[in-house]
Amino acid sequence: MIRKIDEGAGLLDRLISVTNNVAHIRATLPRGAAHYVRAADSELHSADNAKVIQPVPATAGNLESPLPVRRRAGQLERLNTQIANGLTERHGIQTYGFGRPGLDTGTIREIVRAMDNMLAKYPHTRILSIEIGDVDGSIARSFEDRSSQTSLVGTRIAFSTKYASNPRLLSEDTEQAINRGHFSRRSEGPAYSAIVHEFGHALTYEGRSAIVDIAETKLFEYYRRKYSNPESDLEKSYKDWLGKLSGYSFCKGYFHPIEALAEAFADVEMNGVRATEPAKVLHEMLVNSARSEWRKVRLT
Ligand SMILES: [Zn+2]
Repeated sequence: MIRKIDEGAGLLDRLISVTNNVAHIRATLPRGAAHYVRAADSELHSADNAKVIQPVPATAGNLESPLPVRRRAGQLERLNTQIANGLTERHGIQTYGFGRPGLDTGTIREIVRAMDNMLAKYPHTRILSIEIGDVDGSIARSFEDRSSQTSLVGTRIAFSTKYASNPRLLSEDTEQAINRGHFSRRSEGPAYSAIVHEFGHALTYEGRSAIVDIAETKLFEYYRRKYSNPESDLEKSYKDWLGKLSGYSFCKGYFHPIEALAEAFADVEMNGVRATEPAKVLHEMLVNSARSEWRKVRLT
């Protein structure tokens, strides 16, 4: 989902301060954070991650603990806000809505852990804020803020209040979407997966003009170079190969580059070498495109 909003130059100033802040914070991160970089490319185990953020599965967590825990009014809201505030402290990202009543702490931790992992790996990604809010029936959405319809100011990510409050519904709906092939299978929890997908959108927005229009052509070129066989029906075999991408990568039977890139990003970041081949091609294209944008503004 994309929405263009002209926020003017004020946001640009904020972005510059966010970017500087991110660079400073990244330079002073504890060594343990480096484990995220490697962990994101292989199977994600919790041992190393625990050094920075204690991962908690997306269950009802403390709310459904077998031991009754007496909490003062507002205590859980303060805890959730505190967990989210870590993103501001570590990465300079603004957080909104994490103090809403009824949010599941396990889900909040998963959202924050996904952001930490992705930002450790791609620290220059221009994400301005993350919020718990209304996303029109989706689990999460990304919004790109552009000034004068041209240069990207930053991406805002919103995660659904409904799903952040109901981990069972989040798990069931995600599992159903995986079973019908809409999402590729993920090695992480549903909130984590949704955030990684949205992070893929943020990277897409970085190099938008350079990549969205050529993604399908590049995929076909890759396939033809690698698998071209005069005895086979190239068009049909290419279509079968492309069909390895998740269903969400297509809209009414047509390749949908924006969702395909985000899905491919999620597939490779969470499944590593087990990701599908077209997803690996798209992922590489996406990351290279974002890195070339960062080089233009001397961020790398
Ligand atoms: Zn998407």
